[in-house]
Amino acid sequence: MKILVVGSVAYDNVETPEGKRESQLGGSASYFSIAASHFTEVGMVGVVGQDFQDDDLKTYESHGIDISGLEVVEGRTFRWAGDYLQDINTAVTHETQLNVFADFSPTLSEAHAAAPFLFLANIEPSLQLRVLDSMAQRPKLVACDTMNLWIDIARPSLADLISKVDILTINEGEARQFTDEHHLPTAASELLDSGPSTVVIKRGEYGAALFNQDFNFAAPAYPLAKVVDPTGAGDSFAGGFMGYIAATGDTSQEGLRRGAIVGSTMASFAVEAFGLDRLRNLTPTEIEERFEAFVELTRFKPIDSSNRLPLR
Ligand code: AMP
Repeated sequence: MKILVVGSVAYDNVETPEGKRESQLGGSASYFSIAASHFTEVGMVGVVGQDFQDDDLKTYESHGIDISGLEVVEGRTFRWAGDYLQDINTAVTHETQLNVFADFSPTLSEAHAAAPFLFLANIEPSLQLRVLDSMAQRPKLVACDTMNLWIDIARPSLADLISKVDILTINEGEARQFTDEHHLPTAASELLDSGPSTVVIKRGEYGAALFNQDFNFAAPAYPLAKVVDPTGAGDSFAGGFMGYIAATGDTSQEGLRRGAIVGSTMASFAVEAFGLDRLRNLTPTEIEERFEAFVELTRFKPIDSSNRLPLR
């Protein structure tokens, strides 16, 4: 198994300008693992309640995801309710019910603890830290995500976590909130100073900005005619990004740049339908074609000696 992910496995109530869904399968670990499973072997660590549907377990299994680390315990599955009615790029949370996550204490199997790549998807930072501490050795690459709730109520453990990861993925609003800095490059540089070597700032329909100690890179979002449900876009970005890097083992600058485009590719699919509906039915050809569309979207001829800028 190449990538281990810990994060929420949820039933979401979501409202967007395109409609409403109740109890749809979601959670940060779900979006991440389905997106990453198109590229590499994924193991999931998390917890669900007895209300979790067998068909939903089968969704992970049909993507070859190792769910031996997904505990089923007494109680209700994590639930989140939110909308995107004011701003399609920003979720407004109505309710978060931790339910079975409130008492969750992850224990890793030997195979899971040896995973070379680790993604600490959005969940309470102390759980993310516990999984990181349980790894047999430091994975080749550790990335994490978070959200405004944990900045509000668990800032010290979140800061501890950020100091221990290689890559932080974070929304622009959350980057501003965490650093108290409006200007994103300054916020990113403050985050880079606090530990990670790469900070990916997710900007919804404006794409993702990758800040590294040695270089910066901008990955656009795909110009879709319609965004149906932005839920899970960030986790799907992370799934494509980390899935590509884990599959190739390429953690070089070129690998990170290409990974960011693969991430944008998967995020663009995620938002085309409610929940996991589009991500879980993708064909390799569709992924390849969308990736090529990104190559075209970002292509321009560099300046050389025969083609100088027409400066006066
Ligand atoms: P995103 O990629 O940020 O749109 O993530 C969407 C997913 O995050 C939803 O499916 C929710 O179930 C999940 N989620 C919402 N709030 C939390 C939270 N506080 N902790 C963990 N997961 C959450």
